[in-house]
Amino acid sequence: MICKRCVMDSTDSKIRFDSRGVCDHCNDFESSVKHKWLPNEEGRLKLQKTVAKIKQDGEGRDFDCILGMSGGVDSSFMLHLAVKELGLRPLVFHVDVGWNSEQAVSNIQKMIEQLDLDLYTEVINWEEMKDLQLAFLKSGVPHIDIPQDMAYMATLYNFANKHNIKYILNGGNVSTECVRNPMEWIYHGADMFQMNDIIRKFSTIELKSFPFSPILRHKLYLRYFKGLKMIRPLDYMEYNKRLATRVLEEEYGWRPYPQKHFESRFTKFYEGYWLPERFGFDTRKVQFSSLILTGQMSRDEAIEKLKKPSYNPETIDDDFNYIATKLGISPEELREYFSLPKKFYWDYKNQQLFFTVGGKLLKFFGVEKSIKR
Ligand SMILES: [Zn+2]
Repeated sequence: MICKRCVMDSTDSKIRFDSRGVCDHCNDFESSVKHKWLPNEEGRLKLQKTVAKIKQDGEGRDFDCILGMSGGVDSSFMLHLAVKELGLRPLVFHVDVGWNSEQAVSNIQKMIEQLDLDLYTEVINWEEMKDLQLAFLKSGVPHIDIPQDMAYMATLYNFANKHNIKYILNGGNVSTECVRNPMEWIYHGADMFQMNDIIRKFSTIELKSFPFSPILRHKLYLRYFKGLKMIRPLDYMEYNKRLATRVLEEEYGWRPYPQKHFESRFTKFYEGYWLPERFGFDTRKVQFSSLILTGQMSRDEAIEKLKKPSYNPETIDDDFNYIATKLGISPEELREYFSLPKKFYWDYKNQQLFFTVGGKLLKFFGVEKSIKR
C-alpha cells in the first residue's frame, strides 16, 4: 500500500495510514513540523537576529562559526549562504573518510577557491575506517553507513570543542528532509551500545584513532555545559533544492549529483544498490516524499522516477569491484555479505528505548521538530 499524498509505502513496515489513506509521515509533518518551519518574513527576521549574535560573539576570533562540508548540495549551499549572503566567517572543514567521489572533491575545491577560504581536512585512518565498515557489512544490518556518519559527526564536535567555537552551521533542513528514514531502514548513528556490540563481534583491529561521539556528549554535555549551539539557517528561508543547485552551478561551476548523498562513492553504492536490493528500502521514497510535502516535486513525477532503479544496471558490476577492492576483499566476499541473513538493530545491543524516550522529551520541549520512528 502506498500513501495517497506522498510516496512512502508498506516497505516501511511501521507505516500507518489514516482513513483517507494518508500516512503517518504526512500527518506528523502537518501536526508537528509545518508550524515550526519558517520559510517566511518571520524566519528572515529570526535568522537576522541569530546572525547578528553570532557575529558579535565571534568578534576578535579567527572564526565565528563552524561548517562541515561534504560537497553535497545542502552543505555547499549552506557555505555559499553563510559567506556571501550572511557575511559570516566559518571554519570550513571536511572529513576525508576515503570515499570522496572526484566530483565532490572538485565541487569543494571550486567553492573554497572562489570564496577565498581555508579548508581544514581531517583524514580518518583508513585501516580503521575499512575495518569498521567491514564489521558493519559482516553484521548483516541495513545501516552499514554508520561508520561514515559517525566520522563526520564526531569530527565536527571535536573541531568545535577544540577551537572553542560556539556555533555550528548545519545544512539540515525541513525543506528537503522533513520525512525521515524509518529507524528500521537507517538506525540511529550515535547509539554506542549498538556500535560497540558490532565492533566487539566483528572488528579485527583496535580502533585507536577513530573518532566517536556518544549522544550524551554532543546533545547534553557540549550543548548545555559548553554552550555549543546548532543553527539550521535553511529552515528560516525558502530553500528550494532546484534553485539552490542552479545558484551553485552558475556562481561556482559546481556540478550536481544524480541523487542525494551520492557525493560519497560508498553511499552511492549503499543507498543506490545495497539498501533497495538487499532490504527493499529505497531512500528516494523518503527524499521525494519530503519534496512533495514541501511543494518541490509532484507525486506523479516521484512515482515516475521510482520506476527506474537508483543504480545503473550496466555499471553495477564495476561498482561491486570498486567497493570490494577498496575494502581489500574480493567481489565474491562482498556478494557473500550481500546474501547474509538479514539482521536489524534489534538483533544487537541497542539503546532504542532511550533514543525514543529522549526524542519524545526533546520534541516536547521544542528542541527537536520530529522524532525518528
Ligand atoms: Zn504520506
